[in-house]
Amino acid sequence: MGSNNHRGISRRRFIQHVSMGMGAVGAGLIFPGKLAAAALTEASGPPKRVLVLGAGLAGLAATWELKEAGHEVTVLEVQARPGGRVYTLRTLFDDDLYAEAGAVLFSSGYTHANRYIDALKLERADFSQPDLRPLYHLKGRRFSMGSGEQPTWPYELTEEEQELGPMGILTKYVFKTLPPEISDPEAWNRSPFRDLDKMTFSEYMRAKGASSGAVDLIRDTQWFGQGMDTSSALTSAWAYFGPFMSGRFFVLAGGNDRLPSEMANRLSQSIRYGVRVVAIKENDEGVEVKARLGDSSESFQADEVICTLPATVLRDVRIEPELPDDKRSAIANLPYLDVTRTFMQVSRGFWFDEGVTGSATTDLPIQEVARQPYSDAGGPNTRAILESHVRGPSARQLGKQSYSEIIEHTIRHMKKVHPNISQFQEQGVVWAWSKDPYALAAYSWPGPGDVTRYLEPLQRSHGRIHFAGEHTSILSGLMEGALRSGVRAANEVNDAD
Ligand SMILES: Cc1cc2nc3c(=O)[nH]c(=O)nc-3n(C[C@H](O)[C@H](O)[C@H](O)COP(=O)(O)OP(=O)(O)OC[C@H]3O[C@@H](n4cnc5c(N)ncnc54)[C@H](O)[C@@H]3O)c2cc1C
Repeated sequence: MGSNNHRGISRRRFIQHVSMGMGAVGAGLIFPGKLAAAALTEASGPPKRVLVLGAGLAGLAATWELKEAGHEVTVLEVQARPGGRVYTLRTLFDDDLYAEAGAVLFSSGYTHANRYIDALKLERADFSQPDLRPLYHLKGRRFSMGSGEQPTWPYELTEEEQELGPMGILTKYVFKTLPPEISDPEAWNRSPFRDLDKMTFSEYMRAKGASSGAVDLIRDTQWFGQGMDTSSALTSAWAYFGPFMSGRFFVLAGGNDRLPSEMANRLSQSIRYGVRVVAIKENDEGVEVKARLGDSSESFQADEVICTLPATVLRDVRIEPELPDDKRSAIANLPYLDVTRTFMQVSRGFWFDEGVTGSATTDLPIQEVARQPYSDAGGPNTRAILESHVRGPSARQLGKQSYSEIIEHTIRHMKKVHPNISQFQEQGVVWAWSKDPYALAAYSWPGPGDVTRYLEPLQRSHGRIHFAGEHTSILSGLMEGALRSGVRAANEVNDAD
């Protein structure tokens, strides 16, 4: 694992409600399946020599499309594996257990992801556990909820909101209030969407009539809650209520890294691992990319380059000729969200005894509790992993602590959710994305004004240098956004003179 992250010390050495209430809130309402950028089938001119920087989903999609069209592509990837922020932790746990450190959920609303999943014949897995009751720890109260039951939410809600619960509240104040043009993937930059960029997501909910208690309930129970006071309502509308929450969720059987791994297998001749890009320079022959391979340096030359490095990493890559001010400013200032995940291996699924899901929605410092692996519900007598998924500023703070402090903190709060956990706890693994040198944060998280200010400059090519990655998509922070951005950049390269 990355040197800044921690693995277990022990000598032995979603879920019905994944992050919370994700249950295809507005299934079928939004994004009926339009493709933002068409797949490539043939080169528009003579084949080009292309360098793709980064073998995450954006780089893999760009490479896939360019190769389909007959271009000659080389991918430069610093790590020894493909996938970037789609990262399944393997070999760290017993009994072949694995855990997702990065992306968790696919949605049936992901047009591009589903196209690659089908092409590679990957198996989708359901992770719901309809026979177990979801668990909550909110405002000091631990409670679970049977099928069809609605608890008394411990928040100051109107009578109607109390009956609606979190999913009903989102449907009333968000899904039903979004303009119908949201079904057009190109419409984000036009009225009425541009105005949404002036406010945060929580301000949007209040403007649509949600009470403060309802906003608090959503903050504590939804995966985007920890960032809803800082995120642009425009991003939230597109990325989180567009193809993501309007579809049915699934994971990949055997782990989500199967998507990038299988894509990379198909493209393996094209990928160079262990190559760290340090500079990109346009010259008379095209573009030169300078890289470090261990202690040595190497230069690569191409007709066109697609750079998919996260903006956080790109800040330290030299680009010549210099980027225009608006693009430089976008790369330097685009906000990101932090995530720190702590995985506790337990000797058995003790929560089955109580008839509840191991996963829990909490307002505790451990935030969301999730059972992993998602595609294997496990049972009362098999080993499993319980994760604390912390997002936002507290994730960065947590990531700065020592391994034993993080584990102690996690166990202390997890005991409030699962009082017996100490009896079954075996080992822990911590993954703090702020400490991953190739991401430096979890995903981009544009604030009010950032989408209209930064997205167009982030997407704009700079001579023969093209840009992709989740941060260049209106579907920021999502696998689908990364894939779409890669296809867009491949089209740009294909069409370049
Ligand atoms: C904790 C977490 C949870 C998430 N949950 C979900 C979810 O449930 N659903 C969903 O759809 N999405 C989710 N995402 C988002 C999704 O994982 C990302 O949007 C997507 O994987 C980003 O792909 P990318 O290609 O843009 O970037 P990356 O995956 O970061 O790819 C960039 C690549 O560049 C490489 N690189 C970096 N620096 C250099 C260098 N100097 N030289 C060469 N190579 C370099 C990196 O190693 C990496 O492979 C989650 C992400 C995280 C972190």
